[in-house]
Amino acid sequence: MPRWPDSASAWHRRQRRHPVIATPMVMARAFGLLFSAGGLLVSLAALVPHNQAASLGTLYVVAGVAVVVGTALLLCGDRLRRAAFNPLVSLGVLLLGVGAHTSGGGAPAISILCCNVFVAAVVFFFSRWWVVVHLLSAVASCIGVTWADGDTQRWAGLVVAAIVVIIGYLQHWLMRLADQTDVDTLTGLHNRRGFDRYLRAAVDKARLTGQPLTLALLDLDRFSLVNLTGGHAAGDAVLQTVATVLREVVGPDHAIARFGGDEFALLLGCGEEEAAAVVEQVRAALPQHACSAGVTTWQAGESASLLVGRADAGLYRAKKDGGSRVVVERTRRSPVAVELRAAVETGALDVHYQPVVDLRTGVVVGMEALARWRSSSYPGITPDQFIAIAERDDCIHALGHHVLRKSCSDAAWMQDATGVALRLNVNVSGLELMSSRYLHGVQDVLASTGWPAEQLVLEVTESVLVPDAVHAVNLLKQLRALGVRVAIDDFGTGYSSLSRLDDLPRDFLKLDRAFVSTLQRGEPVPAVLTAIAALSKALTIEVIAEGVEDDYQAETLAELGYPMAQGYYYGRPMPATELVALLGRTTSDVATPV
Ligand code: C2E
Ligand code: CA
Ligand code: CA
Repeated sequence: MPRWPDSASAWHRRQRRHPVIATPMVMARAFGLLFSAGGLLVSLAALVPHNQAASLGTLYVVAGVAVVVGTALLLCGDRLRRAAFNPLVSLGVLLLGVGAHTSGGGAPAISILCCNVFVAAVVFFFSRWWVVVHLLSAVASCIGVTWADGDTQRWAGLVVAAIVVIIGYLQHWLMRLADQTDVDTLTGLHNRRGFDRYLRAAVDKARLTGQPLTLALLDLDRFSLVNLTGGHAAGDAVLQTVATVLREVVGPDHAIARFGGDEFALLLGCGEEEAAAVVEQVRAALPQHACSAGVTTWQAGESASLLVGRADAGLYRAKKDGGSRVVVERTRRSPVAVELRAAVETGALDVHYQPVVDLRTGVVVGMEALARWRSSSYPGITPDQFIAIAERDDCIHALGHHVLRKSCSDAAWMQDATGVALRLNVNVSGLELMSSRYLHGVQDVLASTGWPAEQLVLEVTESVLVPDAVHAVNLLKQLRALGVRVAIDDFGTGYSSLSRLDDLPRDFLKLDRAFVSTLQRGEPVPAVLTAIAALSKALTIEVIAEGVEDDYQAETLAELGYPMAQGYYYGRPMPATELVALLGRTTSDVATPV
C-alpha cells in the first residue's frame, strides 16, 4: 500500500486565505470592468466646471490609463497570476488619488475619491492582510488628498474613507460566507458545486474565444484500503496531501476540485496532450503514482456535462485497465465507431444465444445473449473488439440497452414457443453500471417485454466489482431487490479476491474457459477446479463453467459437482430461431449434445 506523507493541513489553512472564486479569469473580469468604469467616471468629472487649480490634461491622462488597463484586463487579464492583481489595486488607488488631487478640489475631487468604493468591491479576492493593506491605502488616499482643502473637504474625505472601509469589510465577510458553499472543507478546493459553476463559465468563455480547455478527472487507486487500514483520519490526511500535490503541480491559477470521495478534477487551459503530461506530473508526485485519470478536451458545441461524461469514461477505462494510468479520451470519432453507432441506432446489431446446460440432466436451462455485428466494412470484427469501441465511444449504453431489449423480447418468444422455462443471461459493461439511468432502463425493458425479473441474470466482470466501485455494487444490489440476479463473469481472470466474494451482490459465478481448457483427457484434474467446486458449495454460489468443448470436459465437470456449463459442445451462439429448434430436440431427447 502506498505510504502517504503527513497531513498538509497547515498548507491548506494558508491556501484558504483566498476564496476559491479568486481565479485569474474571475478577477480579470471584475478588475477590467472596474478600471474601465473608473476611467469613464474620472473623465466625466473632468467635464464639470473647475476652479483654476484643476489640471484637465492630467485628469484625461488618468482616465485614459484606467480605460486602457481595464480593456487589457478584460481581453487577456486571465493570463495574469493571482498575485499580479495586488499591484493593480495599488495602481487604481494611485490613479484616483492623482485624479482627485489634480481636479482642483471641491465636488470633482470628492466624486473621484468616491470611486475608491471600487477597492472595497474587490478586496474579498485577497487574503485578510491584503484586505487591510488595500483598504488602508484607499483611506490614506481619501484623507491625504482632502486634508489641504479645509474643514468641509476633510469631513467629506473622512466620510468617503469610512464608507470604503465599511463596504470593504462587509463585502469580505459576506463573500467568505457565500464562498464556503462552493468549497470542500477538508481540502480547501472547489467542491462539485463550485467546480460545476466554474466549468460552465469556462465553457462559455471557450465558446467565445476558441481557447483550448481540457478536463482531467483523477481517482485514487486503492483508497478504500487506506480508510480500511488507517481509519478515516488517515483517509482525510491522504486527501489533503493529494490536494497539496495538485496545487503545487498545477499552480494556484487553475481550477482544482475535489469532486467527491477520492475523485479530483482539474480544468486546464491547454490541449489534451499537455494536460495528460500535467496529470503524469501529478501522478509522479504521489506515492507509488497511486492514481488513475481520464483526460479530455472540450470541442466546439459541447456542453459542460458532455465534457465531464467523456472524462469520466476515460477514467473508467483507466481503472478498468488495472488503474495507475492516464487515459486520454479523444473526441475525434474513428470511422468504425461512427458505423457501429449507426448500427446500434438503426437496430442493425443482432443478438445470438448460446445455451446454458444443467450438467446433471443435460437439459438447457437458459442462454447467454451475445451481441453480433455484421459489418460490410469490418467483416472480421469480433464482439470483444466492437464492445471495446462502444465503451470508448460512449455508445455502450445504447448498445447494452438494445441487446437487453431484444434479448428479453426474444426470450419471451422462445419460452412461449417451446414451453421450456428459461433463464436469460445478458452481459453488462461496467460503464453501463456507472450511469444513473441504468436501473430505470432495466425496469422499462422488463415492463415492456413482460420478461420476469427473476429469469434475468446480468453478467458483470470481476473488474467492475473492485473495492472502489461503490456505485456499481449499489446498483447491482438495487437490481437484485427487483428479483434480477447477478453473475460474476470470466471468474478467475481479473481481480480475483476470493475473500470479497462473500460481500458482493452475486448469484452465479462464470468460470472462465481458460480453466476448463486445462481439463485434458489422460491428464490429472487440475486442483484449482476441485477447489473452486468446493468453494462454490461453501459459499452457496452456483458456478457455470464456460468453454466446454468436448464430452470429457463435460463429464469431468459433472463429476466434480459443477451444476451448469456452456460451450461449443452444447451449442455455439445461434439465432433465436435455431435455439428454439434445438430446445424442441433436447426436450424430446434430453442430453443430446449438438
Ligand atoms: P463472454 O461474456 O465471456 O462470452 C463468452 C464468449 O465465449 C463468447 O464470445 C462465446 O462465443 C465464446 N465461447 C462460448 N463457448 C465457447 C467455447 O466452447 N470455446 C470457445 N473458444 N469460445 C466459446 P463472443 O461472442 O465473441 O463474445 C466475446 C465477449 O464480448 C463476451 O465474452 C462479452 O464479454 C462481450 N460481449 C458480447 N456481447 C455483449 C453485450 O451484449 N454486451 C457486453 N457488454 N459485452 C458483450
Ligand atoms: Ca458473459
Ligand atoms: Ca465469460
